[in-house]
Amino acid sequence: MRTRFAPSPTGPLHLGHAFAAILAHDMAMHSGGDFLIRVEDIDRSRARPEWEERIFEDLAWLGLGWETPVLRQSERNQFYQQALQSLWQRDLLYPCDCTRRDIEQAATAPQEGAQTLTGPDGLVYPGTCRRKDWPDFHNHDWSRYPYPQQMTTRLMMALAAKSVCEHNVIGSGKIRWSVGFNETGRGPQGEHGWIEADQATLVEQIGDVVVARKDMATSYHLSVVVDDAAQGITHVTRGEDLFEATKIHVVLQGLLGLPTPTYHHHLLIRDAAGKRLAKRDDARALHKYRAEGASPADIRRMVGLGSST
Ligand code: GLU
Repeated sequence: MRTRFAPSPTGPLHLGHAFAAILAHDMAMHSGGDFLIRVEDIDRSRARPEWEERIFEDLAWLGLGWETPVLRQSERNQFYQQALQSLWQRDLLYPCDCTRRDIEQAATAPQEGAQTLTGPDGLVYPGTCRRKDWPDFHNHDWSRYPYPQQMTTRLMMALAAKSVCEHNVIGSGKIRWSVGFNETGRGPQGEHGWIEADQATLVEQIGDVVVARKDMATSYHLSVVVDDAAQGITHVTRGEDLFEATKIHVVLQGLLGLPTPTYHHHLLIRDAAGKRLAKRDDARALHKYRAEGASPADIRRMVGLGSST
């Protein structure tokens, strides 16, 4: 078993991070496996080396050991570009210059249909740029052109889903085309076991997600899929807020010929009012508890993960 903790160095680790890191660490240790770290610092405008240093300090203080060297996403651009190229050459991506406002307007325009749907990345993209006649790209045969690194690109979900969905025989002999993953934790509605998303769900409820942002030349979805494979992760442990996004990840894994790990989504640690902890909740930061004299065992108790043995 190989698990990972993937913090973004944009603020201090709080109790929620401690829970996620300890869970991933202990799962690997209990099965004699490996625990890895990945620094998710593709958002260069928010990531800071000082935060990264403090994250390592906190994790070491918690008593967690990890494989070195750690993977740092800011050093992996060439691998993301290779993956994007391969999707681009198969005509699975298209450039998009919509602003958030454009998307809101198009998605709520009456002629687009009554319902606006929200997917893992917010509003389901209404497809404006997919239908646009790009002056530089004739006949939609974009593969003849270099990948447009300076633009946001989206996945053509209808084509992508068609190419990765396998037919599964479900109850009463019915067949449906779907992708799936094994969930050993739980989604927000308690989902567990074999989780499936069929072609129609992927197209209608997830849609043409962004795979590369103009300001990053990649996206969370693309990087996480490429890197989980590069690190040989067999079990992805992470918060239940990413449960729906896993369907995107499984599609990308299928398109890029990468293995789908087992997923273990977990509950998020919340404050007394039931709100999930955020980086700005400095009051819950591990360094504060440390300064007040808490021990790593106290932190384990606070997040409900007992002792490491
Ligand atoms: N970097 C993400 C976060 O800080 C973790 C994403 C993941 O584990 O896939 O929430």
